[in-house]
Amino acid sequence: MPNYYNKDLYKILNLTYEASKEDIKRAYKKLAKIYHPDVAGSDGDIDKFKEVKDAYDILSDDEARKKYDVLLGFYRQRLEKNASKTTYKNKYDTYVKQAKKHSQKPESFSNSINEALDNLFHNKSGKQKQKEELKTPINGSDIKLDVNISCFEAITGTNRKVNILHTQPCPNCEGRTFINGSTCSMCNGTGEISLQKKINVKIPKDVKQGSKIRIKKEGNKGLYGGKDGDLYLIVNIEKNPYYETEGMNILCNLPVTPFEAVLGADITFPYIEGNINVKIPPMTSSGQKLRLAGMGLYNKSKTKKGDMIITVMIKLPQKLSKKEQELYNELKLLSNDDIRADMNAK
Ligand SMILES: [Zn+2]
Repeated sequence: MPNYYNKDLYKILNLTYEASKEDIKRAYKKLAKIYHPDVAGSDGDIDKFKEVKDAYDILSDDEARKKYDVLLGFYRQRLEKNASKTTYKNKYDTYVKQAKKHSQKPESFSNSINEALDNLFHNKSGKQKQKEELKTPINGSDIKLDVNISCFEAITGTNRKVNILHTQPCPNCEGRTFINGSTCSMCNGTGEISLQKKINVKIPKDVKQGSKIRIKKEGNKGLYGGKDGDLYLIVNIEKNPYYETEGMNILCNLPVTPFEAVLGADITFPYIEGNINVKIPPMTSSGQKLRLAGMGLYNKSKTKKGDMIITVMIKLPQKLSKKEQELYNELKLLSNDDIRADMNAK
């Protein structure tokens, strides 16, 4: 017999895979009349008739049909279609009745019930179930995603809505990549589909630059009973002109006026909630650092706190009045300290 496993025998007979034995017989008789030269005369097509005859020989033989159907997946499709016709309620009643009939002892009764329920909800025959159990579970991979937060959000904690694109086994072919011998149209033969999902994520307070936040089971889905991957958010704390983080410390660039730097000052500057007061000693230069102990971020176990490290940044006022300009001019004439004198030191 020629190799028919790459042909759709049902199509040759203009039938669907659900065709009964009677349907097959009827279809064959109808087509034989059209193509058999002895019946159709000169309009006959002996090659076409041979094809119809072979299709009929296979599909009308129960064993040959089953073998063909199993190989091309029609068998499974028909099983599933028939199964879906019966309601779960009916199936459940039948299983319970069977379980009761086959057991007298309460414990074996409950085992049978469990087995019945298992079969019912997994909708698989024993053989199919066995086959699936033999498949090696494949764990879903983790997804890594960068998330940008501000320095203040790192200190206070925040919430983010993140869009994740995760893959899962194709529901159409169940990751097999093909159906009935042809490429699955839902996943184009990749065996997986991508799904977009929006999830709300809580970013805890005192989070550090580069921290990984793990969200369990929001990664790619596992296959054949494998575990789902996790989602990892990698925290990126954005710099701004005044604040950034460095490990547990918060670095602050503090603008001060030339006269505050010269004379010293009590400076108040805005922070997350309320203000911070800091004393600038007289004759403070640009770049000089001040440390505010315990004003940084907590460590993971909340037993230690980092510091706030302030860097003084002398900033000129943007507008000078005529009077101010005159005073600066006077200062210039008065000053005789050469602040660049040691620049030629070797
Ligand atoms: Zn598929």
